[in-house]
Amino acid sequence: MNQLRDLMQQLLACGCACSAEEPMSRHTSFRIGGPADLFVTVHDEAQLCNCLRLCREREIPYFLLGNGSNLLVSDDGVAGVVIQLGGSFCEVRCVEGNTLICGAGAKLTAVCLAALHNDLSGMEFAYGIPGTVGGAVYMNAGAYGGEIKQVFSGCRCMDACGNVVTLSAQELQFGYRSSILQQTHGIVTEVTLTLSVGDAAQIKAQMDDLVQRRRDKQPLEFPSAGSTFKRPEGHFAGALIEQAGLKGYAVADAQVSEKHAGFVINRGNATCADVVQLVSEVQQKVLAQSGVILQPEICLIGRNASWN
Ligand SMILES: Cc1cc2nc3c(=O)[nH]c(=O)nc-3n(C[C@H](O)[C@H](O)[C@H](O)COP(=O)(O)OP(=O)(O)OC[C@H]3O[C@@H](n4cnc5c(N)ncnc54)[C@H](O)[C@@H]3O)c2cc1C
Repeated sequence: MNQLRDLMQQLLACGCACSAEEPMSRHTSFRIGGPADLFVTVHDEAQLCNCLRLCREREIPYFLLGNGSNLLVSDDGVAGVVIQLGGSFCEVRCVEGNTLICGAGAKLTAVCLAALHNDLSGMEFAYGIPGTVGGAVYMNAGAYGGEIKQVFSGCRCMDACGNVVTLSAQELQFGYRSSILQQTHGIVTEVTLTLSVGDAAQIKAQMDDLVQRRRDKQPLEFPSAGSTFKRPEGHFAGALIEQAGLKGYAVADAQVSEKHAGFVINRGNATCADVVQLVSEVQQKVLAQSGVILQPEICLIGRNASWN
């Protein structure tokens, strides 16, 4: 604890914002999660580099948070430091021709709107995904036939030692809801997107249509982390769950959405343990019913966190 207090003093001295014992339920779209020992907001690459160095010197673990929209955090909280990208990281920095450069902490929605205002097409699919650009690159986020890999042309990425490299789309090794970052744990600090010139009215109509489809189909009125499971090849997770009779099935306040069985929602006071149990029961019943193994898409993190 002394070590964390000392770390906090040093981080405050270099301009980072810090908060001890910060409830992660405040930072996740699921509204679930115990406290992070230390929650740090860094505003630029220099602060991020300092933060990683101070953690490294003290052998304190860290976790890089995006917008918390694909996360399930343990009820026991997170050991060490949770780092959030703030300040200049949240800006759409510049638009040059059909290229858009943004900080990794910028929200996808803001990036989509910046593209629209510059008559640039290609990001429409992402309008309504509640993550950051960095989180979207890490997950290769996608919807309605689009994926971030289709518009990604490069990023700046910091490793645990504070070294910054520029990575190409090829180096990111994008797959279905995956990228090499899931193995390397590099931190994306800036992303370059290459779009195509389009017609603003058409781009807007497409964005509005996709948001409406989300409102119609998804349980946006409840906290969740989006689709609980990856799409199994040749199937839809939601349909398999529904066929197994699990629509509306609940463990305490964690419930398979009655609106869209592919989503687990928090009806109010769901814990991480409730969600983990529900996910496990759904996996077992779907396997028994249809022989398909459902893999969680949601990232589970924190103390004692495990899907089984
Ligand atoms: C209502 C709802 C609808 C959704 N719809 C979709 C959808 O249509 N398609 C889809 O793909 N997803 C969807 N999601 C899931 C989620 O929004 C995406 O996966 C998004 O890309 C996660 O971004 P985030 O910034 O919130 O990341 P977080 O949830 O904060 O983090 C997820 C992972 O990304 C890592 N990460 C975050 N930022 C960085 C960075 N800068 N550098 C390196 N690693 C980083 C984190 O360490 C973590 O491992 C939905 C979620 C909700 C709640």
